[in-house]
Amino acid sequence: MCGTPHTELFYQQTRGTLQGREFWRCQNCQLIQVPAVHRLSLADEKAIYDYHENDPQDPHYRSFLDRAAVPLQSRLHSGAQGLDFGSGPGPTLSLMLTERGFPCAIYDVFYAPDTKVLNTTYDYITCTEVIEHIAAPADVLEQLLQCLKPGGWLVLMTKRWRDLAHFKGWNYRNDPTHISFFHQHTIDWLAQHWSLRIDYLSDDVVILQTKQ
Ligand SMILES: [Zn+2]
Repeated sequence: MCGTPHTELFYQQTRGTLQGREFWRCQNCQLIQVPAVHRLSLADEKAIYDYHENDPQDPHYRSFLDRAAVPLQSRLHSGAQGLDFGSGPGPTLSLMLTERGFPCAIYDVFYAPDTKVLNTTYDYITCTEVIEHIAAPADVLEQLLQCLKPGGWLVLMTKRWRDLAHFKGWNYRNDPTHISFFHQHTIDWLAQHWSLRIDYLSDDVVILQTKQ
């Protein structure tokens, strides 16, 4: 994330189909990443996403997303326009926000790859369960922040690691498509780097605001 060369091998998978998979930690910003040699090909990655059955009408999926949507809505003015980045095979959050009066465009590198939507600015951007799949999260965040108006909101939903003991028992790291793991320090670092205000809402939802 921060680009410093101070990284160390933090953990190596000892069992299962992902045996040998390495996790490297940045000693500065505490981002943990899986090196390129241990990542899936794009085709294998997409095959796994194709299998995700995200039904936009599923009330359980909607209530999961509401942990991001409800606190975001409370901060938006009516008619605020947004983008759901990484909308996946069954876009749902964008529908929920649009239904509630906050029109939401979508972008997804696999399923909605029209980059025109990245050439405008928005009042809010949502990025839920996405950033952990991205090899260069700093580049993506920089791009998203350029798409936000002053005082705009960026909602990140990704689970955060806490310490080695937590990481060892953490199911989240066993998903072969998860390659970037944020710590609270990683969020703190990026907020300071890009001058963002942080609201930590839970252990996997954070809302960031750009300067007015
Ligand atoms: Zn770093």
